[in-house]
Amino acid sequence: MNTPAHLLVNLAVLGRDESPRYQFHILIGALLPDAPMFLFYFIEKVIRKIPEHVIWSHDYHLGSWQNFFDSFNSIPFIILGLVIAWKSHSRAGQFLCMSMMLHVIGDFPLHHDDGHRHFFPFSDWRFESPVSYWDPLHYGHIVTGGEVFVVLISAIIVFRCSMSALTRWFVVIVGVSYISFFGYALWVWV
Ligand SMILES: [Zn+2]
Repeated sequence: MNTPAHLLVNLAVLGRDESPRYQFHILIGALLPDAPMFLFYFIEKVIRKIPEHVIWSHDYHLGSWQNFFDSFNSIPFIILGLVIAWKSHSRAGQFLCMSMMLHVIGDFPLHHDDGHRHFFPFSDWRFESPVSYWDPLHYGHIVTGGEVFVVLISAIIVFRCSMSALTRWFVVIVGVSYISFFGYALWVWV
């Protein structure tokens, strides 16, 4: 799923009635599995000025980058985090890890040949789903439509349930960034 979609879906599932304090941790948890990818893209594109096709056909597949990405999508690491948060009675930590887990569960059936090693570092196995959240060769158009629908419903739920003006503003900002993301994707990648 696209990152802004994770933010809104996780907020709707885990945090619609929560205080902004825990909503913040849910958002960080929703962001973390994709954060290494943003850092990678920033370093490659902005700092190293690598051409777009080299970024995705070569550098993205380097072992060191792959280990970095997959550490943040690893179910064993997230479970470890949950246990630590639970043992130390940290509700914030529990929300953060539950949100990371929800992100990984959401991604699991929607990646065809770009899935993560969700059992890293114990296994290099990747689930190759017949369905992709973006690839038109694997029902990407239908899934993207479904994602937009789910995001819209999530945004309405969070907007209506949340008492905090800050959260409502956040929903609007993420909604706009979600639309801009599609604009950028069409501009650069199509
Ligand atoms: Zn993801």
